[in-house]
Amino acid sequence: MSQNFHQNDQIASNPVSREGKSQMQSVPDPLTQDPLTQDPWDIAFDEAKDAAHRGEVPVGACIVSEGKIVARAGNRIIAARDPSAHAEMLAIRAAAQTLGSERLIGCDLYVTLEPCAMCAGAISLARLRRVYYAAPDLKGGAIDHGARIFSHPTCHHVPEVYGGIRESQSAELLRDFFKARRS
Ligand SMILES: [Zn+2]
Repeated sequence: MSQNFHQNDQIASNPVSREGKSQMQSVPDPLTQDPLTQDPWDIAFDEAKDAAHRGEVPVGACIVSEGKIVARAGNRIIAARDPSAHAEMLAIRAAAQTLGSERLIGCDLYVTLEPCAMCAGAISLARLRRVYYAAPDLKGGAIDHGARIFSHPTCHHVPEVYGGIRESQSAELLRDFFKARRS
């Protein structure tokens, strides 16, 4: 119970200038929405759900640069008639356009499924700093399964990889999607 009081206290004592100084206006950044209210995972999962509604395999991705969302995408393979239109590829392309650089140094990718060999290759080429993925993909994944692209000595840039975050949420999304397609 006491925890609730603490929370209320925090809300009540929200920072309001008592000295009457002009309030700091946060400058809107054209590259982003509000970074503080957006969890990259929520965005990636929203993109995955949108993909499912389009009849695409539900995979969503999001790229963060310096704490700001710079790109988001879901699978568009069918919609774009493009076998390479994986969520990660689209997010990487969008981030490169947004940032005006073909190298996404310091950027982190959040994706709801372990990337395939094509996307892992693109992640390396883009010099992404970190890859966070939700569900492992035992068949098509190529980071911790299959081709293990980043383990090759010829892979010049290897990002930090963190897998298994929100794994069950992603697995459920994929399971529901394929179950609905079979029925
Ligand atoms: Zn892929």
